[in-house]
Order: sequence, then structure tokens, then C-alpha cells
Amino acid sequence: MMLEAIHRNTRVVVDLSIVKQNIKKQKEKLSPSQELYAVVKANAYGHGMIPVAKAAVEAGATGFCVANVDEGLGLRQAGFTQPILILGLSRVEDAALLAENKITASVDSVAWLKEAVQYLNDTPLKVHIAVDSGMGRIGVVDEEELASVEAVLQNGPFEFEGIFTHFATADEADTTQLTKQIEKFHRLVDELSVKPAHVHYSNSAYALWHGAGDSAIVRYGIGIYGINPSNGDLALKDESSLTPALRWETEMVKVKKLEAGDTVSYGATYTADEPQWVATLPVGYADGFIRAYNKGDVLVDGVRCPIVGRICMDQCMIRLPHEFPVGTTVTLLGKDGDEEITAIELAKRSETIAYEVLCIISDRVKRVYIND
Ligand SMILES: *Cc1c(COP(=O)(O)O)cnc(C)c1O
Repeated sequence: MMLEAIHRNTRVVVDLSIVKQNIKKQKEKLSPSQELYAVVKANAYGHGMIPVAKAAVEAGATGFCVANVDEGLGLRQAGFTQPILILGLSRVEDAALLAENKITASVDSVAWLKEAVQYLNDTPLKVHIAVDSGMGRIGVVDEEELASVEAVLQNGPFEFEGIFTHFATADEADTTQLTKQIEKFHRLVDELSVKPAHVHYSNSAYALWHGAGDSAIVRYGIGIYGINPSNGDLALKDESSLTPALRWETEMVKVKKLEAGDTVSYGATYTADEPQWVATLPVGYADGFIRAYNKGDVLVDGVRCPIVGRICMDQCMIRLPHEFPVGTTVTLLGKDGDEEITAIELAKRSETIAYEVLCIISDRVKRVYIND
């Protein structure tokens, strides 16, 4: 693990009041019986799992979704007692560990369940059946598989608490695939001999564009962090429902004047065509400020300044309109004055999605929390 750099003025600032606001705005739209589980996998999409989880509970989240066993254990060790659903498949040898910690496993196979019985003792394992309705990732694929999984659940040391599916295209205008998935999911759920308490399918995109339907749980992820799930391709119905909760900033550690002909960074790909001011920033690709971002700007004093030359592992350089003092704040992601660099802008620069931009901000970057 990379050490957190605490003696450096590069930081991610997470506004927890915005995290709460994003959750409350979604909760308001749900029916009283619908629950919102905060998806805090991948260190809460880079925002920091524990502080976000705490804010989420304060805002009305009644459970959590994580990606793996250790994230679930991390929540339990921090004292959270709410339900925790692991969205991925877990190692069968960890079944007892999950049961003891009351962490819910996603399951989709008879073989896995039968093997789990050998590991489980007195404490039953809580499970949600995953249904593959068209995502092609995990889940039972048809009525037959579902029936055999349900049969094992009913006769073993399990608590069959839920069944869910995940959509591949809930963030797209074309709803053909989505409609097919919903139909298949409902068809399979109808085949169950006992309906579990939690039948759910809504992620952020579905909740934002389709209103969560009768999904008993909304697995709210990217919406918590205030990012449009479609990478900005599809307009939100209500723009005020999402506000970005994270800003990423640094400070100039060196400011210098280049003469015409001077070059900057590896490969000497940037040559000053005239005298100009350049600042060096203590942030680079090892922080998650990846090389592909150099095709764009950062913000200084509310003004866009281009990144010049290649982004290095731990540093990068920007061109300034005039001299600035060392220590001047530079915004890599977020608002400064009337200008804003969004996670979606960084995603487009690097041909990816905002989710990835946020997740790859590395552990080395200090997280600071405001408005707790
Ligand atoms: C990650 C994940 C979510 C959350 O998705 P968002 O688009 O961030 O809301 C929900 N369900 C499953 C199964 C997931 O893997």
C-alpha cells in the first residue's frame, strides 16, 4: 500500500454535507418502505469509506453495499451494525467469517452453497441471490438454476434475505435492454416459492432516470458522490439532485520563468515558444493524476491553465498567465470561481468514465473532510 502523504499540500477535500444532501434528495423520492443502501465499495469511490458511511447513515441510508469481504469487515470493525451486502462473489472458505460478522453474501451457485455448508457452523449465512438478467457478470441465468439455488438455501444454514439483479444500460436513453432485463428479473422472481424480504434492482442510474420502481433497496453509488452516471451523456431529470462532493487541490511548489526554447518534462515534448511563467505541482500519476490528463487544464484563481509537458509520477507542470507566489492553490478537480473541472471532464480527457477517475485517486493523497 502506498503511504498517505500527510506532509504535502495535495489533498482531496470531501464535503460530507453534500454527501448527505445527495442521499437525502434520493431518499425523498422513494416510498417509505424503500431502503437506500449506500454503495461504499472502492473506498467510497475514492472519497473514503468510513467518513462517507457515517454521513450516509446520518442522511438515512439503512445499509451498505461493498465489493468484497474486506470492505465489509472494514465497516464492521468501524462499528457499523447495518446490513452489508457484498455485491460480488466471495471465496467459499470465507463463508463462516461472513456469517459471524453478519455480512450478506451474493450467491448464484448450488456448488458454492453446498461447499459453504462445510464451513458454516451455528451462525447461518445471510444471502441474496444474484440474478443475471442480461449483465453477463454474476447471477443465476434461468428458472432452473434459480430453483436449485433456492432449494439448497431452504434446506441449509442460510438466511435467504434477498434477490437482486444489476442493469447494464440504466444510464442510456435507449431502454430496450433495460426493459428486457426487468422482464426477465420479474419472471424469475415470480418462480420463487418463497419471496425474500428484499427484491431489488435499482442502482443510481435507474433511480435517477426511472424512479426506482418497486425495488425494495436502491443501491445508491455514484449518486452519493454527485456524479451523473451516464458520464454526462444523458441529462438528469432534476439537475439539483446531484452535487459533486469531492474537490482535489494542490499548491504550487515552484514558480519559474521559461525563456523561448526551454523545454518541460520527460521527452522534452513541450517547448516554450516565448518567455512564460510555469509552476511545478506536487501531484502526478502515482496519485491518480494520470498522464492522459495532460491534454487539459487545471484552475488557478478561477482561470484555466494548461498542463504542459508529460505528467510525471509525482509532479507535473502548468503554464501560468503571469507570475504567482509559491503556495498558490491549484484546483485539479472541482470549482474555482466561475470555472469548474468536473470528474466527467477528466474522464473525457482520458477516454474513461467519472467512476474510474474517482476510484484511481490513490491512497497517497490525503483526504480532508469538511462540514461533518
Ligand atoms: C457498483 C454497483 C452498484 C452501484 O452502482 P452506481 O452506478 O454507482 O449506483 C449497484 N449495484 C451493483 C451490483 C454494483 O456492482
